[in-house]
Amino acid sequence: MRDRALRAIAECQRIAAMSEEQGRITRRFLTPPTHEVHAHLRRRMQSLSMTVQVDAAGNLRGLWQPEGAAGKRLLLGSHIDTVPDAGAYDGVLGVMLALEWVEIAQELHLSIPIEVLAFSEEEGVRFGVPFIGSRAIADCFDPPLLALIDADGLTLDAAIRNFGLDPEQIAKAAIGADVLGMIEVHIEQGPVLEAEDLALAAVTAIAGQTRVVLEFAGQANHAGTTPMHLRRDALAGAAEWIAAVESFAQSTGGIVATVGKLDVTPNASNVIAGTVSMSLDVRHAHDPTRATAVEALLEQANAIAARRNLALQCTRQLDQPAVPMDEKLTTFLAEAIEAAGFPSKRMTSGAGHDAMVLAARVPTAMLFLRSPGGISHHPAETVREEDVEAALLAGREFFARLAAKIQ
Ligand SMILES: [Zn+2]
Repeated sequence: MRDRALRAIAECQRIAAMSEEQGRITRRFLTPPTHEVHAHLRRRMQSLSMTVQVDAAGNLRGLWQPEGAAGKRLLLGSHIDTVPDAGAYDGVLGVMLALEWVEIAQELHLSIPIEVLAFSEEEGVRFGVPFIGSRAIADCFDPPLLALIDADGLTLDAAIRNFGLDPEQIAKAAIGADVLGMIEVHIEQGPVLEAEDLALAAVTAIAGQTRVVLEFAGQANHAGTTPMHLRRDALAGAAEWIAAVESFAQSTGGIVATVGKLDVTPNASNVIAGTVSMSLDVRHAHDPTRATAVEALLEQANAIAARRNLALQCTRQLDQPAVPMDEKLTTFLAEAIEAAGFPSKRMTSGAGHDAMVLAARVPTAMLFLRSPGGISHHPAETVREEDVEAALLAGREFFARLAAKIQ
């Protein structure tokens, strides 16, 4: 399997060179380098005797239909778009490993059709809306999205047409009832597996997320003439609350809470801050836990504002429920990891993935690979050969068990 692992890594490096920008990996939805990626993947799929098509949402799809197999098909895949100045493995590794898994399935004479999906859009960079590719496949693409406009003033509709596709056919990209399930392999994009010295994990759920904008308002005034006891300092109030957010999250299992953005007015060294607007991002795999945490944090903000004589405004911007992965398929995957000789860690994904969109339609599971340094969405993003090999060994066990189950 080591040769296969090295090939998958080399393929990610090759695809990394298919970029909008020289010297950086940037490949937004259906920009010209996507044609190059499609041509490359198409050749590889055809060499595996797969039938290849590009659907109207720009997803490249390769179907391997074993002789005489008439049952439902398994979906494997991930996305091929990137953030600006990306790494080589986010998304693409999931596609390359899917193709390696197909070859393994062929060697095992697995009699289950497999469709490999290279999703056209996951990151939401070009049109500000993520999952355009997987939405089409999961039959939840909303046609008004076609009116979205990119930075060059081009609509999504026009971008699809410029790529040589017909947006009116998007509904035909949807999968039907003839799908067994979906597995996405993806790098963790975080530090958990590395911290625990593990190669792989089965993902149990994609965390739900709440985003709130809070504004503390006090009184801007002279930093030299206003005594401490007569101040209404919005920034001091915000700082107290930010520290409270951190300690609350540290003491509540599985919660991650972040204040990542501050706008201070007037933002001058000799003026007491009059207003501070800030972001709150709270995530957890269990929706009621997240809801309770958000309420507790907002209550703390209210208490701090009242004690400091500040006004407080809270605007909820996002309440996205958690998406559990399919329990049976996840257990099956975890057993395959263990059978391949690795501890079967289970964990929540803090980031969104195409798998969460597919999960609404078909039983879906995710396999995470360790992210060295926990680094992703950055050119320094990398993978370890032995972890890629571990994902291949887990794939072989997965198929062996699937074959035994079906026969
Ligand atoms: Zn990704």
